[in-house]
Amino acid sequence: MIPVDPAYLPVSALEVPRFAGIASLMRLPIRHLDSPEGAELGFFGVPFDGATTNRPGARHGPRALRDASTMIRMVNQATRAAPFHTARCADFGDATVNLTDIAQTLGLVEAQCARLKAGGVVPVMLGGDHLMTLPVLRALAKDGPLGFVLFDAHTDLFDGYFGGVKYTHGTPFRRAVEEGLLDPERMVMVGIRGTTYDGEDRAFAAESGIRIIPIEEFRARGPEGVMAEAREILGDRPAYLSFDIDGIDPALAPGTGTPEIGGFSTFEAQQLVRALDGANIVGSDLVEVAPPFDPSGTTAWIGASILFEILCVTATATARAHGRAPVICDAIPEATS
Ligand code: MN
Ligand code: MN
Repeated sequence: MIPVDPAYLPVSALEVPRFAGIASLMRLPIRHLDSPEGAELGFFGVPFDGATTNRPGARHGPRALRDASTMIRMVNQATRAAPFHTARCADFGDATVNLTDIAQTLGLVEAQCARLKAGGVVPVMLGGDHLMTLPVLRALAKDGPLGFVLFDAHTDLFDGYFGGVKYTHGTPFRRAVEEGLLDPERMVMVGIRGTTYDGEDRAFAAESGIRIIPIEEFRARGPEGVMAEAREILGDRPAYLSFDIDGIDPALAPGTGTPEIGGFSTFEAQQLVRALDGANIVGSDLVEVAPPFDPSGTTAWIGASILFEILCVTATATARAHGRAPVICDAIPEATS
């Protein structure tokens, strides 16, 4: 593989064992949110769950993801992607939030994410609850509405909770469409299921042109068929990728606030994200890991592993934006399917 600036490479477990040292995200170098220059792709945590409508805990998500992510290695054996050699990556720590004030937190996260963008860094956010995707979209969609692919048990398209509260983790994408941050005609949501209120989220999706792929349709068509359609919906223009860990079946990933049975297997989740390689991804996230409901730690581990897949496809898009091809590990033979 091509040599890259070692200042942006993870600590290798061939040199320092995984259980030792500072548990930065995937053992990447730690950088400060105020000085992003030099990096091209930056993880940052948003330890906030004040917009959760039921079971809180996702404020502890970024730290649990960092700890679990120390088990991640350098190369994706299925796709041969070498993301740390493809884009200069760093861990930008956690955004400052105010757990007692949702409005202030939205402003803080947007400003910190805008600082990353201004420094030329593509953000990958670790939640936190799903409302925290909204300020990231506000920071990224300055040049026009983005395409959007969501893996989630829920649409998060509701209008309000508790008598008209507009900002909860069940409403971010309704707000994002209203604010012109997302182009509804280029939005696709995969894995939707479970009990619901009255279907008003689905009615909004139908009216505005958002494509909903319920889990039953995913089961019938499989990851390849569904993602071929998703790629068509996204097209070649800039798009955002969001993965709510509750998209995974709760028998596998119980550590989340709003579990719904009948979800993705971990392998299906990998297949779904891998199918986005080549899409024009300008930002991504993994949200809703809630360690208090994750006594075995498996949810954080699954989350960290999916984050690696998200990193791979985001790094490809980042390299292409810089006019480079993604780096592939030639030593691994191409997979046959
Ligand atoms: Mn959800
Ligand atoms: Mn969600």
